[in-house]
Amino acid sequence: MTASLFIDGGWRAAAGAPLVSKDPATGAVVWEGASADAGDVAQAVAAARRAFQPWADLPLEDRVAALRRYRSALEARADAMAQDFSRETGKPLWETRTEIASMMAKIEVSITAQAERAGERAAATAFGQAVLRHRPHGVMAVLGPFNFPGHLPNGHIVPALLAGDTVVFKPSEETPLAAQWMIQAFEAAQFPPGVVNLVQGGRETGAALLDQAIDGLLFTGSAEAGALFRRKFVDRPEVILALELGGDNPLIIWGEVEVEAAAAVIVQSAFITTGQRCSCARRLIVPQGAAGDAIVEATAALAQRLRVGAWDGPQEPFMGPLISSRAAAGAQGRVQDLISRGARTLLPFKVEDAFVKPAMIETTGIETPDQEIFAPVLQVIRAADFDAAIALANATRFGLSAGLISEDETLWRRFVQRSRAGVVNWNRPTTGAASNMPFGGLGASGNHRPSAYYAADYCAYPMASFEAPRPTFAAGDIKGLTP
Ligand code: NAD
Repeated sequence: MTASLFIDGGWRAAAGAPLVSKDPATGAVVWEGASADAGDVAQAVAAARRAFQPWADLPLEDRVAALRRYRSALEARADAMAQDFSRETGKPLWETRTEIASMMAKIEVSITAQAERAGERAAATAFGQAVLRHRPHGVMAVLGPFNFPGHLPNGHIVPALLAGDTVVFKPSEETPLAAQWMIQAFEAAQFPPGVVNLVQGGRETGAALLDQAIDGLLFTGSAEAGALFRRKFVDRPEVILALELGGDNPLIIWGEVEVEAAAAVIVQSAFITTGQRCSCARRLIVPQGAAGDAIVEATAALAQRLRVGAWDGPQEPFMGPLISSRAAAGAQGRVQDLISRGARTLLPFKVEDAFVKPAMIETTGIETPDQEIFAPVLQVIRAADFDAAIALANATRFGLSAGLISEDETLWRRFVQRSRAGVVNWNRPTTGAASNMPFGGLGASGNHRPSAYYAADYCAYPMASFEAPRPTFAAGDIKGLTP
């Protein structure tokens, strides 16, 4: 069993229940440890609290230097990390390599973003100067999801550390091994003890962390958990919440378009990462009639050519298994529910252990739940005209990503004007995102605190100061003063 607690700069065994991580493709155990119990979590938060002020007091250059050492530590481990990320999540190696590269790139992007969005500026005034500063919040709890177990928590942790916050990280219970790697890189980078702490475990450990005196919750995960946290913190306004949640993302195909190219964008939007990206297209909206039929047929044909397999199989797959057979069974239940409501199967959702094939389900004219099916399942909906297509696209309580595939720029202008989502793409996959842009959604997809380039905003609060070197009292300063 591995020590799974990293507190005050040292590893130790956790006191809670056993925690096991398995390769979703084979069921083989890839990591064994223990969950942090409430006592472990309290120690981690206390360590982060003690470390906070000295860390925040350091000159920014020192925090930058520590993060650059972390980047080098990631680089030194990149190959081994990518393999273990694939082993633990089932994702193809090409994808986990990209994930590690994004983690490394995050350091310089965050340094630039912080300077631009949360830096320091001064303007001369008659009495001295007006200064804008950004101050760190304190101890940040970071709860991570399983689908990008490194990149997404890293996207909260790096800007938080840069701002001067300290961190207690609780990764997904599905991906403890990925988190062990990340923390080993922080350890190698020689951060002061208590600045970064790790508590492994599931929801109970997460709940114990949120019961502590934290100053922020930086969360990436499901809309259900996000809604729960909103309620939980309603009477704790001192805790900043940054919630990056799911979506029920629409993709419209309209007007002139090359069918094969459109299908290529559609399958990448819907099926990449086995449909386990928050920004995956869930609803394909096409015109009624022959034009729509051609798109649907080309998409189904291309989807059937996507190789599904283990990350270390004989041929490189496009997609691996879902994270667990439990996740596969859950998605199957939701597909069955659609079918029982009258949906028509275009490509069946077949489950073999955790492996699934891309599925397409026609749901035109059917009352369907506005939910995220976190799997490679694309619903097809036909619309009578473009305005009806936009109305369908926006008919969701979510608002994370959306897309239009069309060669008609006037349609794009109309779509971008009316689309209600945080990421709105044209002829590019709905999953297209970048660290040098904000990433976040409206409605049930978040709480208006986008991450990626805008993470600097929620990791520090702005402080306005009006500064004079000494107090002055000149005639006329105080109106209505008796002589
Ligand atoms: P999840 O909500 O099940 O879990 C995320 C984390 O929260 C885990 O660490 C989990 O242990 C913890 N958690 C969940 N419920 C909790 C509770 N009641 N109390 C305390 N801790 C709790 O999400 P997941 O299945 O790991 O990830 C997939 C979800 O994340 C999808 O809905 C996806 O859309 C979303 N996601 C969003 C983004 C984004 O940037 N918007 C990115 C990736 C994934």
